[in-house]
Amino acid sequence: MNDLTFKAFSGLNRLRCEHSKGFNHKLESWTLSDWFTATVGELGEAANVAKKLNRVRDGVVGNRETEAELRAKLAAEIADTFIYLDLLAQRMGLELAEIVPPTFDRKSREIGFPYLLQLTASDEGVSER
Ligand SMILES: [Mg+2]
Repeated sequence: MNDLTFKAFSGLNRLRCEHSKGFNHKLESWTLSDWFTATVGELGEAANVAKKLNRVRDGVVGNRETEAELRAKLAAEIADTFIYLDLLAQRMGLELAEIVPPTFDRKSREIGFPYLLQLTASDEGVSER
């Protein structure tokens, strides 16, 4: 799974969303606003877990789950957020594989960080500029 690409993930994510044996839910049947609601809903679930981890950090009572259970839940909610974010992007005709690297690299250049993601004809993978 370490070699999973944005493109491969996005393709299967959309297929599962729309396929009759998946969610049977066409991307276009939800608006951008609908996809944002889903995405931010998952991010909110992640934030709620973070609140509970803050309780662990600060020794505050109120949690029903162990710290290990909360960490596993946080991972799942972050993943849920990413899955919806990808569908949101696809709904708008955008591919994370196309939009994330240049945006990441633009900020890296802005702050003078020397390692960039985007490939040029002369290099492969992460490169120093
Ligand atoms: Mg969730």
